[in-house]
Amino acid sequence: MNRLRIFVGAAFSILLAACAIMSQNNIIRQAEWGGTPARVDSVQSIEFITIHHSGVVFESGKDPLTYLQNLQNWSRTEKQWIDIPYHYLIDLDGKIYEGRDARLAGDTNTSYDVKGHLIICVLGNYEEQTLNEKQYDALVHLTVNRAKHYAVPLENIRSHHDWVPAETVCPGRDIQRLFDDGTFKQTVSALLN
Ligand SMILES: [Zn+2]
Repeated sequence: MNRLRIFVGAAFSILLAACAIMSQNNIIRQAEWGGTPARVDSVQSIEFITIHHSGVVFESGKDPLTYLQNLQNWSRTEKQWIDIPYHYLIDLDGKIYEGRDARLAGDTNTSYDVKGHLIICVLGNYEEQTLNEKQYDALVHLTVNRAKHYAVPLENIRSHHDWVPAETVCPGRDIQRLFDDGTFKQTVSALLN
């Protein structure tokens, strides 16, 4: 039984790695991490890109696929949301996962209007954790790629905290400092031009 599980796990990992390499921009699609799609019943047009963290410490060695499957379940059952609240998620290895269909507006526990926002979430709590280089690269490249795709201007790329500073520290100190000192936008801007 255990051997079978290891074999299936290994086969799935190889398949996932192959899919990640083949898929555009190395984004791991919802079906590839074991998620199920939400019904698209209204379509938003993207004007903003907004960066979040998940707010819960993500331990190294924790399986992101199981985490995503649980997050999708929790979002639908506990929160009664249509799907995971974020459109893209980045794990500790800088791997990018597709969350909610970008045509659907996200969800939030704070008061900014999420309609028109493409929401990117870095897994972990960056009040306590530090963003590593792979995560930073993934965040920059995903932002640049999506900003080009949706023609989002640089001034519309912000952190969650930038929108509602009194309500949240999200995406956490170690990511927010990159917004406060301009590093993130400078990097994105250089790659956009
Ligand atoms: Zn947030």
